[in-house]
Parts: sequence; C-alpha cells; structure tokens
Amino acid sequence: MPPVTPMRFLAKAGWSRLVSGLVEDYLVYGTVKKDGFPAYGRITNVRDLILFQTPTHLSAKEFLFPQRETLLKFNMEDGGHEPVVDAPAQVIIGMHSCDIHAMNLMDVVFAYGTPDANYLARRANTIVIGTDCFPDQYCFCPSVGTDKVNEGFDLYLHPIKKGFLVRTGTERGGAILKKYASSRQATASEERELKALDKRKEGSFVTKLDAPHTELPAIYAQSDNSPVWDKIGAICYGCGSCNNVCPTCYCFDVKDEVKPDLRTGERVRVWDGCTLEEFSLVAGGHNFRRPRSARLRHRMNRKFRYLAGVFNAPFCVGCGRCIRTCLVRINIAEVTNELIREYRSR
Ligand code: SF4
Ligand code: SF4
Repeated sequence: MPPVTPMRFLAKAGWSRLVSGLVEDYLVYGTVKKDGFPAYGRITNVRDLILFQTPTHLSAKEFLFPQRETLLKFNMEDGGHEPVVDAPAQVIIGMHSCDIHAMNLMDVVFAYGTPDANYLARRANTIVIGTDCFPDQYCFCPSVGTDKVNEGFDLYLHPIKKGFLVRTGTERGGAILKKYASSRQATASEERELKALDKRKEGSFVTKLDAPHTELPAIYAQSDNSPVWDKIGAICYGCGSCNNVCPTCYCFDVKDEVKPDLRTGERVRVWDGCTLEEFSLVAGGHNFRRPRSARLRHRMNRKFRYLAGVFNAPFCVGCGRCIRTCLVRINIAEVTNELIREYRSR
C-alpha cells in the first residue's frame, strides 16, 4: 500500500523548478502538443510540457513496453547470445488516473508466470508523475473504477487555481518533491477547491456503461452469438489501431533478425494486435479467427471477461482511445451496452 501522506501545496514556480531539475538528471517524457493534439514526447525544457486535461492519442505504454525492442543479441557461429535490457532512469509526467491503472495492470501481467526482465527493469527505473484530467465525450473511467488512483505513481498532481495539490505515492516521490522544490501543507480551503473540481468532473461523463463492471464477465459470457459481432465485424477494417492505442493491450510477436553478415543477429519483440488478420494465422495457413467479427469479439472479451477472470479487474480502463481512433467509430462502450441490453431482455 502507498504511504498515506497529507496533501501538499506546490506553487507553479515550484513545479517549474521541479521539472527543470528532473530534466537535468533524468530522461524525461511528458505530455506535449504534436500536430495540435495531446501526445507524449521527450521533455528537454519545462516549456515543452503541457499538462492536458483530455487523454493523449497514444498512451504512455511505449515507454515501458516499446513498440519494438531488442531482447537479445546472438552469434550463430559460436552459438553465443547475450540478453539486452535497456532500462534507463526515466520519468513520465502527465499520466492520468486511467493510464496509471492501466500501467498497474501491465505490471501484474509482466510479472505473471515467467517475469519479463525487460519490462520490470524499465518499470523499476521509471518515476511516474500523474495529474488530474477532465473527460471528453469518449471517456468512461468511472464505469470501470479507474477515475481515481491511489497507487502506481510517485507523485500525483491536482491542479488548482494557484498551483497544485500534490499527493506522494512513494518514498521516491517524497524525496523528489523535497529535492527539487519547496512545498507546504495544503490548506482546508485549497482542499475544498479540489473537492469542487472533482464534483464538476464527476458530473461531466457522457459515455457510461449501463451495468457495474463486476457483472460484465457474466454478460460477455452469454454474448458469443450476439448479432452485434457481425454488425461491427462488417464495418471494421482490421487495421489494429484500437490495439495500438490501448494502454492495456500487451500482445507481442518475437522475431529473429539476421544481420547482413549472416553470422550475427538480434531477437526483437514488436507489438502485435488481435484485430490484425495475421494474429491468429498458424502454420499450414489456418486462421482460427479470420472473420473480423470474431477478432473484435475476442478483443472485447479480453477486456471485460477473460482477463478479468484471471486478474480480478477489467482490462479496459475506460480511456476511450480505441473509440477516438477508430475510423468507423466502433465504440466499445456502446457495444458493451448493447450486450447488456440483450442480456437483460432474455
Ligand atoms: S475496430 Fe476500428 S480501430 Fe479497431 S481494427 Fe476495426 S476499424 Fe481498426
Ligand atoms: S479498450 Fe479502449 S477504452 Fe478500454 S482501455 Fe483500451 S483503448 Fe481504452
């Protein structure tokens, strides 16, 4: 459990000093504007950073689980091989509550069974500074219980008019706050201001699931033959964008790449996605989920049923990214609500 620490107030100037100090000492990533949209990028100056209230197009998972990474280098002549673990000390600034929940789920997944040395080393070397957000029309985090977060971050910022109220999640976070900036205990009126902001946020969600998320595994278990799968399968492009933007999609492929010298090579891991046609293609040319309807059914069952059964939590954190990015506007919340209606009308 994270240490329970009283909320501290950090002035805007103090926050700038803190970020500048981190930039001096670490590799820092944070939320920036790219092509006019919120995105993650490298921060080399405090002015690069914009703390957005709405979600970034891509999540921060690429900093812990890169789209492509080398796992080992090998030499076919002498059979030698050496693992590659690239885990620089890094900071991610600007993660929202849902994305920290997503990262906490990834932490569990990559530690499950045979622990994933690369992910876990990178995670251990990553300082996370979260921040409050405000929903757009696609966010539905309260429906999956991820609108508030109490662990997984080192520091968490609640912006208020004059600066930030800061929660400390780890001893490392407390040390950073102390080292780079001076803060003071928050006043009762500052905490009241934050409560009012929270209340405004609670009333601002447009997208909602119509059943508690704890009921979704049972609802999805009855949905295999629902007509909704053919309906969305008929318009899906099978482009894989929903997998790419999702902070909890973690499937990958592993390939051996031989160098032009034909003696040495690298084993690399690259993101894969269950909505791509080749994902379920096996030796002999058989594809056990060729129809797009079956691939979408699989993806959504992974989010609300299969993994929920193993890890006791939905694997959708309600960030809305797959809805925002889908060219044909396939909406996981609407699909789920349709399944809920079918289930209740039986
Ligand atoms: S649901 Fe949308 S984003 Fe996902 S594969 Fe189909 S078309 Fe692409
Ligand atoms: S399934 Fe969609 S809404 Fe849910 S976490 Fe993934 S991208 Fe976000």
